[in-house]
Amino acid sequence: MSKAWQQELAGIALAGVFLGLAGAGIGHYTALIIAALLLYLAWHFVQLTRLTLWLRSPKRHARPYSVGLWRAIIELVEELRVRGKKRKRKLGRMLSGFRESTSALPDATVVLDDRGGVEWWNSVAGRVLGLERKRDKGLGISELISDPVFQTYLACGDYSRPLQMPAPVDDSVNLEVRIVPYGKGKRLLQARDITRLSQLETVRRDFVANVSHEMRTPLTVVHGYLESMNDSGDQALSPWSYVLGQMQQQTVRMQRIVEDLLLLSRLESHNNIEEQEVVDMSALMSVLKEGAEGLSAQNHEVAVTVEPGLNLYGSVTELESAFSNLVFNAVRYTPTGGRVTLNWECGDEGEPCFSVTDNGIGIAPEHIPRLTERFYRVDVGRSRQSGGTGLGLAIVKHVLTRHQGRLQVKSEPGKGSTFSCSFPDSRACWESLENEKKPLTSRSL
Ligand code: ADP
Repeated sequence: MSKAWQQELAGIALAGVFLGLAGAGIGHYTALIIAALLLYLAWHFVQLTRLTLWLRSPKRHARPYSVGLWRAIIELVEELRVRGKKRKRKLGRMLSGFRESTSALPDATVVLDDRGGVEWWNSVAGRVLGLERKRDKGLGISELISDPVFQTYLACGDYSRPLQMPAPVDDSVNLEVRIVPYGKGKRLLQARDITRLSQLETVRRDFVANVSHEMRTPLTVVHGYLESMNDSGDQALSPWSYVLGQMQQQTVRMQRIVEDLLLLSRLESHNNIEEQEVVDMSALMSVLKEGAEGLSAQNHEVAVTVEPGLNLYGSVTELESAFSNLVFNAVRYTPTGGRVTLNWECGDEGEPCFSVTDNGIGIAPEHIPRLTERFYRVDVGRSRQSGGTGLGLAIVKHVLTRHQGRLQVKSEPGKGSTFSCSFPDSRACWESLENEKKPLTSRSL
């Protein structure tokens, strides 16, 4: 028990003894006790009122002076108050330090509440996203940034990849936007200016496209002359026939690389597929089978399975190019006598899927994540020998991305590989249903 409480109880006991003696003297016990209790209550009431006034407005009312238990209580309250003020000052310092550091960040940062309203943003965000403190605080970010691509990104909830979009205030500025969820439903939006990077990327793309384009004509000319020389039957050229044959082979290889590079830069430079239609998959599968048999020259068994009535909505030229790359790879990397199976089916969740399975040389697991990189080959010599450009799977990846598809590779060295391309179910077109449906050109994905 604290000293104040001991003193209070001792005072009460002393008053009791005094009242007992006085009561015995004058013979009015009850009246005396009631009077004493009323006085005691009045004292506490006055103390309580002074304490309340002081707590409510400490600036207008001085700290109450008191004795005993009340003094101890007032001192305790004062101590708690001082501690609270210190903590508040410390938090304030931390908060302003945090704000200063985020303001100094070169990237735009916006704090979004659980309903997507903007709570706070740094000065870069104000400049780049066009936010104004008085006007926009508390408004939804979807109302403030109206770009439809951003709206879809915000609504989809999958923020594992950043989004690239033009800055709302200036189309020439390119932003990379990232959203990081944290706390209870809160999100942190970060936007980085990647204009320079995008410009460099465009320069690189244009350079590759221009070089490839410029090389096309000279290569065609050289190849044409070499062909004429080879076919001329001129005896004077016979000592050179081996050399001419090799030169012709190499020009064909270079022509293929140039064509693949041009196709890749076309795929990269237009984000949207220009011409989409319902691709007749059973017809395309027949074309792919014929191509595989032509390349194999009867050295492989080529089998095809097709889901009847299932077609795919997309660009026929791009899809044919991607699928034939996979089919030709299967033939090229499967030794004579092997089997190649082309499969077109509907997956368990309604997603259309094209796959090619072979029982060829297979691929070691460490190479699989890098296969879609340009010019990445497991065995450079073998790829060249079989007429590969090293660009086939990069083309496949680009075409699939443009069709919101996914490439999956399963392979075991010595046993074979399966390359599967799955597409969203919105790209599936069932023949019987499609006949009753709206015009294909207005199909929304
Ligand atoms: P390339 O023109 O060299 O075939 P790709 O981009 O088409 O280039 O393929 C990249 C590499 O992936 C190939 O060099 C090869 O090593 C490997 N690869 C692709 N498909 C197969 C397959 N079906 N079986 C084994 N290896 C494959």
